[in-house]
Amino acid sequence: MCGIVGYIGERQASDILIKGLSRLEYRGYDSAGIAIANGKLEVRKKKGKIVHLSNDLERAGISGKIGIGHTRWATHGAPNDVNAHPHVSSDGTFALVHNGIIENYTALRESLSSRGYNFTSQTDTEVLVRLIEDVQKNTGLSLGKAVRQALSQVEGAYGIALVSGEDSDMLIAARKGSPLLLGIGEGEYFLGSDAAPIIEYTKKVVYLNDGELIIVRRSGFKVFSVEDEALDKTVHELEWDLEQIEKGGYEHFMLKEIMEQPSAVENSMRGRMLDHDPFVQLGGMMDSIEDLKNASRIILCACGTSWHAALVGEYLIESLARIPVEVEYASEFRYRNPILREGDAVIVISQSGETADTLAAMEEAQKNNVPVYGICNTVGSTIARETKAGVYLHAGPEIGVASTKAFTAQVSVLTQLALKLSQGRTLGDDELKEYVTEMKAIPAKIQQVLDSADYVKEISQIYGHASNFLYLGRGPNFPVALEGALKLKEISYIHAEGYPAAEMKHGPIALIDESMPVVFLAMQDSSYQKVLSNIEEVAARDGIVIAVTDANNGDLDALCEHVIRIPKTIELLSPLLSVVPLQLLSYYIAVMRGCEVDQPRNLAKSVTVE
Ligand code: GLU
Repeated sequence: MCGIVGYIGERQASDILIKGLSRLEYRGYDSAGIAIANGKLEVRKKKGKIVHLSNDLERAGISGKIGIGHTRWATHGAPNDVNAHPHVSSDGTFALVHNGIIENYTALRESLSSRGYNFTSQTDTEVLVRLIEDVQKNTGLSLGKAVRQALSQVEGAYGIALVSGEDSDMLIAARKGSPLLLGIGEGEYFLGSDAAPIIEYTKKVVYLNDGELIIVRRSGFKVFSVEDEALDKTVHELEWDLEQIEKGGYEHFMLKEIMEQPSAVENSMRGRMLDHDPFVQLGGMMDSIEDLKNASRIILCACGTSWHAALVGEYLIESLARIPVEVEYASEFRYRNPILREGDAVIVISQSGETADTLAAMEEAQKNNVPVYGICNTVGSTIARETKAGVYLHAGPEIGVASTKAFTAQVSVLTQLALKLSQGRTLGDDELKEYVTEMKAIPAKIQQVLDSADYVKEISQIYGHASNFLYLGRGPNFPVALEGALKLKEISYIHAEGYPAAEMKHGPIALIDESMPVVFLAMQDSSYQKVLSNIEEVAARDGIVIAVTDANNGDLDALCEHVIRIPKTIELLSPLLSVVPLQLLSYYIAVMRGCEVDQPRNLAKSVTVE
């Protein structure tokens, strides 16, 4: 969470920093601030969204050609002006912004307090600032070396950037656990938590790795290892362009991203699905497919929406490839002393490739010598760099906090993986060909679902004031029920639960009354008759039934208040279609309730703290 930006060059830094922060606002919006060095240090920070800070700067700007900025997702201390970043050293010589959590901040704070240091904020970040001052005072080291030494005493995660009032030609940044990259321009450099604030100016970037510290001057930059050795870094080319990170005429990023799903899913398959042998070509995994085929167990680790995609993946891999799969919450994995054995393989799934809990799960598996593979969207992210091999989603940047196109692209990639693992073992060429052909038809079918958005909007206007929703599905559509409920909770703040449809009678049925909308995923598949019975049970108790179905036989019309029809596909592929009306439903309900769709309260995209 939280976004960091930095600039050094010949342009006015505050313009670039504010624009950059706006592009990172999806990562946190509790407060925003900047620090500019122009012979002295000038800091401006404000509670709330970036617009408050930029209004303030419009009234009285700060001139200067080097600076840092931050948009906060508070972990320690309330979201207010004082706790906002940047935090400044007691003598006003340097300012620092931080993404992450200093876990041993209490002990450090006590020790620094006992030595006379004062604290004005409740943040863990200010402790790091005082620690750097303390190191400087006791050792006389340069700022860069003092930062390095202070960081060696810190436990937890950080991405930090510093600017000095005494040296207007130096930006310092370092990372451990929180992402940071440097954009390389002509005589100017840009720092960002991700590529969004950089892409407008340059496509050349350097990714910082954990433990690395960078010192940037107008004349060039140097990256140092934990041991303080200078490192040679590879310059990468960004794949995304500016247009992709803008709204392109849509009112919200979320709607844009829902509508982009036909192309996102198509791109996730581009060059990978063939209607002849080898049928599926996952370049990045080529050397690992045999190992995965021989794995005694595949463990899928993820959080949030990616965890729901992983659950769909479990159905896919177990049904098609007959390899045992377990799905784990990444946030729980390393804390429950998991049993990891020879023959296991772990696949971590994260849109950003930077989710702190998922990275921790990756490390836990690696520590136990279990091979870890990655599925992520962000090229060059930590998961992409630190897993043995992996598959990119190629879904394009996802900015809306509520994930949509990343989910369908993840399910698409997991389907491809399941098919690849089935080849030569559990599926014959004809079956593989049938799946490939149907997968290729999915983007057009998603478009058909999107074409009925107005009907979903009508339904949203009727039930947008409900206090509770229930989502029910079976088989591969059970995770879709979970995802539908999560989408509604996230952006419209309506309590919603997802359940396997048959579990309803073991508890949730008690909730059903005439004010409770129940969304059923009722595909005409192996469990259709059972789901019909569950619908009957809800209807018998005056529940309001909204069905998403591919059936055209009129079974549902008498039983349900509303029937949302989606195209038919193979049973295991239906989540790629059935999730779309649920995304639209939560979107239109949130808009109707006046919620901030792209920046829901308390949430932020890319959860880079544990
Ligand atoms: N822990 C810091 C704070 O609460 C940084 C949080 C963030 O990553 O935005 O201020």
